[in-house]
Amino acid sequence: MCMDMLKTISKLSHAYGTAEYVKAGGGNTSCKDAETLWIKPSGTTLAGLKPETFVMMDRTELSRLYEAVTPVDSADREALVKNIMASAVKAGTSGRPSVEAPLHDSLSARYVVHTHPPIVNGMTCAADGRAAVARLFPDALWVPYIDPGYMLCMSVRRSIHTYKAAHGVEPRLIFLQNHGVFVSGDTEAEIRGTYTRVFDTLKKAYRTCGVAAEVCVCESPSDAQVRGWRQVLSEALGEHAAAVAVSGRFEVGNGPISPDHIVYAKSYAYEGGVSVGELLAFVSARGYTPRVIVTENAVLGVGTNTKTARLALELALDGALVKQLAYAFGGLCYLSDVSRLFIENWEVESYRAKQAV
Ligand SMILES: [Zn+2]
Repeated sequence: MCMDMLKTISKLSHAYGTAEYVKAGGGNTSCKDAETLWIKPSGTTLAGLKPETFVMMDRTELSRLYEAVTPVDSADREALVKNIMASAVKAGTSGRPSVEAPLHDSLSARYVVHTHPPIVNGMTCAADGRAAVARLFPDALWVPYIDPGYMLCMSVRRSIHTYKAAHGVEPRLIFLQNHGVFVSGDTEAEIRGTYTRVFDTLKKAYRTCGVAAEVCVCESPSDAQVRGWRQVLSEALGEHAAAVAVSGRFEVGNGPISPDHIVYAKSYAYEGGVSVGELLAFVSARGYTPRVIVTENAVLGVGTNTKTARLALELALDGALVKQLAYAFGGLCYLSDVSRLFIENWEVESYRAKQAV
């Protein structure tokens, strides 16, 4: 029984682990029975999950989290939460559970598949996102933007209870503002059916508004031009621009769109001429080196290695699509400075943690 369930959730993880649904290590999946939650380990990809890689968690132990008196300071709070989560990991499994494990645990459905598709974020990141959900998906739960981690999980947990009190059942479809979607169900067919409904409905809505579901990318710049930029970037940004990924120009979403966009491509792209002076001025104004460079005829992803450079460009393109699709629902609504700063600092923390290992 448990093996069948793990095989099913692995299959679903692969089906919804493609670029249409998630980028890099984004999104997470789980399955459960009354005692145990099996969740995707943090830092892994949906596409690479196997039945044996899921982290096994004791649900009774995990439920201590819901009664815990948590410190006001966010760093102390996240540390306490991490400890409780670690103590809930059952012996015999390795890996750190996803920070969204308590949210998965809060839904009683057997399978949960959480992703960040641009098709969905065109609505969740739009000014009229909430109204669009009410109109197009009356059965869904809409959750206003909250900093990721414990606070988000607890807020969604409360919303699920309120929804259940009103409707008699838990929501099978949850939209998180400027973040993504949670789909839950007791069977594989139920999960697939909900995703198909969400995608079909949204694609139709975009078509009706005359919004294309693909970003228009201009012709790539010449090799000689790219060589020149590489030289300047390396002089200005050093090892932070050791690798450069190149694309023709497209209209980027220049601002904090969602946690994933901030983590992989930073809140703001550098836009302008590629010169050492201007790049250094950006670094001192923003406090970070840019990951996305927008020139007159190109968009470049930069990073310390090929993978990070490519990911930055991939997220820039994803953000461009979200921005374009959001026109169907009143236009893109960026995150506030407070929300943006939480992620920027959070990323530093998790980066430091990774470096320390
Ligand atoms: Zn997420």
